This record gives sequence, structure tokens and C-alpha cells, in this order.
Amino acid sequence: MRNIDISKVAKLPTKYGTFNIQAFKEKEKEHLVIFTNELNANPIVRVHSECLTGDALGSVKCDCGEQLAFSQELIAKEGGMIIYHRQEGRNIGLLGKVNAYALQDQGLDTVEANHQLGFRADERTYEIVEYILDYFKIKKIQLLTNNPKKIDSLKNVEITQRIPILIKSNPYNEEYLQVKKEQMGHLL
Ligand SMILES: [Zn+2]
Repeated sequence: MRNIDISKVAKLPTKYGTFNIQAFKEKEKEHLVIFTNELNANPIVRVHSECLTGDALGSVKCDCGEQLAFSQELIAKEGGMIIYHRQEGRNIGLLGKVNAYALQDQGLDTVEANHQLGFRADERTYEIVEYILDYFKIKKIQLLTNNPKKIDSLKNVEITQRIPILIKSNPYNEEYLQVKKEQMGHLL
């Protein structure tokens, strides 16, 4: 795989508990891994795709912020790892995502908006995730996700079970969650 720069490991105390944090730099993208001291042979792993609006700004257009909070809470308690995958807006970047939101304001759904901008519904790739799991010598995981495509995308690791993330819909993300479920195969 391409050149990856890897940081040292530091402590990251959070409101959910204390994690270890380590950064992996792949070209211009800097990914983060947070993990508990105890990592068993089949840890709970969340591969969380960056969503600045949902994760940091409290956007309720999507369920990313709540999914991240759910993951941190569960993993702080049970042990495991979150790979914070810097592929914003299903890898269309912030500019693409905000343009897609503008189209959604005009009535397009999340998939239609991406298509109108010349993107696929989902542009994400997972090589760096496999690199990171391999770096930690993790051979099997319990994957915390509602996205079956993510299960298929991780080929070099055994997924012993899928743990669902249960999030309530709100009036803003109801339609978005419906599209994710019906058109993108998410199990909600
Ligand atoms: Zn989001």
C-alpha cells in the first residue's frame, strides 16, 4: 500500500471514557483510530465515515453524529476500536456535500442529488481501513454498522457478527433514513 505515516499513541479522555488515539496519514487524508486499552481477539469495531456537519455541528439531516456517540459509548464500555475514516460525505468532500444539500433543499433525495452532481451514491473505499486493522493485527471483528455494503467491503478480515446501531429518526432525517434503507440497502 501507498506510504502511510503513523503517529505515536496518545491518551484521549472523552465524555464517554478514555481512549487511546493514533493518526494514520494517507496522502492528504489523515485518519484517526481511537481504541480502548483492552482489545480482545474479536473486538467491536466501528468504521465511522467522517461527517463534519453531523459529527461536529449537531446536524440532524443525517444520523452520523448519533451513530458516533452510540459507538463511543458502547466501545468505551465493552472495549474495541473506532476507525474515523476521513471520507467526508461518502467521499464526495465538503464542497460536493454542501452542493448536494442545496439540491436536497430543492426536493431531490440524497441519491438523486449525488447523481445530478456526477457522483455515485457512495464513493467510499476501504483500503486504509484494511491497512489499519492489519497494522493492529486484528483478524476478526464484530462490526458495528447498519450498512451491509461495509460488511462486503472489508474483505481481509473476518466479520463474526454485525452489531446494529439503533437511532431514532427525527422530522429532518426521516426521509434520509428511508432512502438509506430503501435505495442503499441499510438495515435500520
Ligand atoms: Zn452525516
